[in-house]
Amino acid sequence: AHLDRIAAVDGRVNAFLHVDTEGALAAARDVDARRAAGAELGPLAGVPVAVKDVLTTKGVPTTVGSKILEGWRPPYDSTIVQRLRAAGTVMLGKTNMDEFAMGSSTEYSAYGPSRNPWDTDRIPGGSGGGSAAALAAYEAPLAIGSDTGGSIRQPGAVTGTVGAKPTYGGTSRYGLVAFSSSLDTPGPCARTVLDAALLHAAIGGHDPRDSTSIPAPVPDVVAAAKLGATGDLSGVRLGIVTEFGGEGAEPGVTAAFNEAVDTLTKLGAEIVEISCPHFRYALPAYYLIAPSECSSNLARFDGVRFGLRTGDDGNRSLEEVMSLTREAGFGPEVKRRIMLGTYALSSGYYDAYYGQAQKVRTLITRDFTAAFERVDALISPTTPFVAFPLGARTSDPYQMYLADLFTIPSNLYGGPGISVPCGLSEGLPVGLQVMAPTMADDRMYRVAAALE
Ligand code: GLN
Repeated sequence: AHLDRIAAVDGRVNAFLHVDTEGALAAARDVDARRAAGAELGPLAGVPVAVKDVLTTKGVPTTVGSKILEGWRPPYDSTIVQRLRAAGTVMLGKTNMDEFAMGSSTEYSAYGPSRNPWDTDRIPGGSGGGSAAALAAYEAPLAIGSDTGGSIRQPGAVTGTVGAKPTYGGTSRYGLVAFSSSLDTPGPCARTVLDAALLHAAIGGHDPRDSTSIPAPVPDVVAAAKLGATGDLSGVRLGIVTEFGGEGAEPGVTAAFNEAVDTLTKLGAEIVEISCPHFRYALPAYYLIAPSECSSNLARFDGVRFGLRTGDDGNRSLEEVMSLTREAGFGPEVKRRIMLGTYALSSGYYDAYYGQAQKVRTLITRDFTAAFERVDALISPTTPFVAFPLGARTSDPYQMYLADLFTIPSNLYGGPGISVPCGLSEGLPVGLQVMAPTMADDRMYRVAAALE
């Protein structure tokens, strides 16, 4: 049924870069056979899932939304995909994304933008807009995203779906094509909080193949989502970040958020204002740290090891071929990040830019730690604005970067964050974000499920 749905609507939505029809049908038949043989199957057995094209899939094309990896079929599965298979899910295919996960709209995909099913002249968010659009268009009931600065939560917010960024290190980066290794976090996307929790439980937990993976079990996010669904939040203290108030969320977004805050109060939560004075520096710090790590990570795309090779006519030097390959293979936003990062890391500027940004990161982490001494979780709108029209922010990178104003702080800190639908503004979905302390992912599921 989902493959039929994809065939019917994806020409318009462009959520998928690759549909693995044969693989999906084979996986579904395999689950059927195991069920018939009396095997004990988990809660997600037979459930279709769409996977962001940033994760390697054995034998199935993985492009990361870039021309430079066009045609690459990885020889191995990422840990997330291995765990999806072990859980008996059925992988439908790979979803569209901004090139190398750099962007907030999918307009930086080398394969054309995805469209928001609520209004196909608008963006579905990014970088994981394909996964969110697939959910909103009922092409898949579950999807996987990755969140470096907001790429799971922001697409969730603007498509009226749920997106959760786990604690950094709570989900494995093995086989996740790297953008910014100290921030990249794969995680679940779904249409309900409980579905997201079930998916989170299936993919999370320690992985010895990822050196930053946390050697501890995933908190019981499924029980927390069920607890939240009872609608009782008595005893829960939630903080609203003072500094986000003045930062210019659209009036309609603020109104929907305030209504949700009233609901949370009625459900028994205590709401307090909390000052996090360094959050205002999160966006500039992120746009030094993420490009710096990107410039280092993307050095491996040299025309020799993976994918595209251009200009190798037998007469050109290695350096010329490398440069021609990178010129042809990378899009403008990726090139901008590589240049920014190379500059910020250069010996003359390292202290002034990268070094300073790392100090700011520490101060932001301290803001979170101090806040969580007073409250169980922080809440905010997920994004400052609803889904914008295609093309509206492509000419000014800073306008695009603003989409992640409220999501970036928790990436720099490393704690979990979830976006849950909280109403409409001008007929378009608005998301509420819940941020929790590291390894307290269960808390955010409880609050988000109560609101649903
Ligand atoms: N939009 C942000 C960026 O362009 C975040 C991307 C992400 O989370 N992958 O870097």
